[in-house]
Amino acid sequence: MRVYKFGGASVKDAAGVRNVEKIVRLALNDQTPTDLMVVISAMGKTTNALERVVEFLDAGKEEAALNQWVDVIDFHVAIMKELKLQPGVDIRLQGEIPYDPALSFDENYDQVVSMGEILSTQIVAVYLLKQGLPVEWWNMPKLLRTDNTWREAKVDDSISAETIRAGWNRPRRPQVVVTQGFIGGTEDGKRTTLGREGSDYTAALLGNYLDADSVTIWKDVPGILNADPRIEPDTVLIPSLRYQDAVELAYSGAQVIHPKSIRPLQNKGIPLYVRPFGDPSAEGSRIAEDGVGPIDVPVYIWRKNQILITMRAKDFSFVLEESLSEIFDVIHRHRLKVSLIQSSAVTISVCVDNTRFVPAAIEELQKHFNVSYNDGLSLLTIRGTTPDVLERAKAGRTIMLSQTTRRTARLVVKG
Ligand code: ASP
Ligand code: MG
Repeated sequence: MRVYKFGGASVKDAAGVRNVEKIVRLALNDQTPTDLMVVISAMGKTTNALERVVEFLDAGKEEAALNQWVDVIDFHVAIMKELKLQPGVDIRLQGEIPYDPALSFDENYDQVVSMGEILSTQIVAVYLLKQGLPVEWWNMPKLLRTDNTWREAKVDDSISAETIRAGWNRPRRPQVVVTQGFIGGTEDGKRTTLGREGSDYTAALLGNYLDADSVTIWKDVPGILNADPRIEPDTVLIPSLRYQDAVELAYSGAQVIHPKSIRPLQNKGIPLYVRPFGDPSAEGSRIAEDGVGPIDVPVYIWRKNQILITMRAKDFSFVLEESLSEIFDVIHRHRLKVSLIQSSAVTISVCVDNTRFVPAAIEELQKHFNVSYNDGLSLLTIRGTTPDVLERAKAGRTIMLSQTTRRTARLVVKG
């Protein structure tokens, strides 16, 4: 069996859904026909729109929330109509926002935001079925078991694998299953989310549970490129790479694959393909144990929206190194995502994603250290760098901090 994952950009309109049909048919009519697990994200920018619904409700702005919600529903209804599906008949529409003021923001977030994936998968599944394909829709909140760490739920692999394998191995299961990425559910039936952009991770988990022959992420790029084509003029496609290189790319901030999606595949030696949604005959990139490595062109990876936090010991009776575990405990508890660390005897600097968790973490760190910080930064990682490449990258940029090894340069830059 294969797992195919389609992101929000691939299903942002009716044409996208028709293209999913085309790609699914290609797989079913392949020389070696295959069963397919199709994992789908929310359509277009739906996740962002649903986040705004929760934020409005949280701020007591009910009318704004309702308008935003109606926009989301209308957007889906328009796509259904274009696909000749009947809203309310072929696909049930949720009239009320699944929001309960008695619950925490994060719990409500998961109940509301998960609706994007529920809607997108219902549309795709019903559409494929109406085109005569053998399809079944699966509801991940009942199958992928997580804890209740809202917005970043942890998956229980053993329960999930068992449930999902049982469903998959059922006699007379249709050849194609369509289901949601990014969402799961708790033991008591609440929907959870796995962290933004988590659909790749779901695809990787399902590949792992079902011993897939491969997992393919269909994207609006030709495959894995050495740089973002919107930033660097001369990008090249990397056709083959090893898991270890892919992990490093993902952790340095390459947008193309979610960092958590490699390990479940590497554990079982399942190859991961990244292929262009618009050109299914193109090969794209293949990531596997036997991939080609190390990558032999300089790779530029930008990680935006960074903040550099520097801690200095308050009194010099102790060295900062002795407080490392304390610092990382704070960082861990506040869910900060560290992208770079630099230390001296009396200071330690960490570059982290500037998320909503940062202010509380800084406040706590200030109790123990003199803390200063710079925001509005980006981290540029260049792998496979040479002195020339590094010079060119530095030119015209304000560098706050740099770390270089023989092959890799990491620059924290302004802007
Ligand atoms: N729809 C979710 C998001 O936009 C999950 C995903 O696309 O992977 O974050
Ligand atoms: Mg998405």
